[in-house]
Amino acid sequence: VKRIAVLTSGGDSQGMNAAVRAVVRTAIYHGIEVYGIQRGYHGLLNKDLRKMDIRSVGDIIQRGGTILQSARCQEFRTAEGQQKGAEILREFGIDGLIVIGGDGSYQGANKLSKLGIKTMGLPGTIDNDISFTDYTIGFDTAVSIVVDAVNKLRDTMSSHERSSVVEVMGRHCGDIALYAGVASGAESILLPEVPFNLDEVADRMKQNFENGKRHSIILVAEGVGKGDDIANGIVERCPSIEPRVTVLGHIQRGGTPTANDRILASRLGDFAVRRLMEGDSGKGCGVIKGECVATDIDLVVNTKKEFNQELYDLSCRLSQ
Ligand code: ATP
Repeated sequence: VKRIAVLTSGGDSQGMNAAVRAVVRTAIYHGIEVYGIQRGYHGLLNKDLRKMDIRSVGDIIQRGGTILQSARCQEFRTAEGQQKGAEILREFGIDGLIVIGGDGSYQGANKLSKLGIKTMGLPGTIDNDISFTDYTIGFDTAVSIVVDAVNKLRDTMSSHERSSVVEVMGRHCGDIALYAGVASGAESILLPEVPFNLDEVADRMKQNFENGKRHSIILVAEGVGKGDDIANGIVERCPSIEPRVTVLGHIQRGGTPTANDRILASRLGDFAVRRLMEGDSGKGCGVIKGECVATDIDLVVNTKKEFNQELYDLSCRLSQ
């Protein structure tokens, strides 16, 4: 392997910069040239590549977002777009591509791999919805942001004896709500993976209220519905509660990455380059039980992330 390229794609996440930095520095350490592709697959199709050096990734490990920028690219979803992408990579003499992104970005990497391009995927998304890795890059930071927000809401809610519905990201995977819910002591956690009954949620709040618990937090993953709709449903069932709604939105994707995300990103960026050097390709990289692992990207994109039932059961026991 003489020359590789790296891109970030889909929704950005904290720690993508740390991953880019690790890819660039590990490659250069081993005498491999590295190109940074701007704006994901869109930049690839527009030949927006530039050679990176050690200094071009200086002072970014602590920054959210991605210096390579990200984009959604419709053209790359087509067979012609993918073919064009593969040709451009060949034209530039790139013999390995590292894609940092979520599920859609992995699908794109998978297509390139099938066209003979050596690819490695790194799980860069706050959602933690990529299988064959315990955590994705950015998830830990997103959870910390939600926990911090809930702490603040608790202060004001308990002063006014009010309840809060907090809507967090997670369309198909409720891990942000689940992990943040356990860490912040939420009274109810509503997730796409677990059917819920709003009557029970409202009943529980009413009971808590009568037993002297004057405020409660309900965390809602966006995949189960809007925070406003959940709050309205509670008011219909229990007019005295009147929860306030907070939608955290893109705040969850920004800010400086936690140490855990930086370490995860650094380990995986380094691991992906070394796997390419060993001749491996078509893999999604992850960390399972502390070990870096590379799994067939085809399998990764076709396997639903396992739900952490144990953590969910714990949240139910602790939120009485
Ligand atoms: P997030 O999980 O944060 O949304 P993502 O990587 O899943 O990130 P997407 O918008 O789904 O974000 O995908 C990013 C890009 O990957 C798309 O704009 C498109 O260019 C490419 N892509 C997505 N799905 C496919 C596919 N099935 N085949 C080829 N390319 C794809």
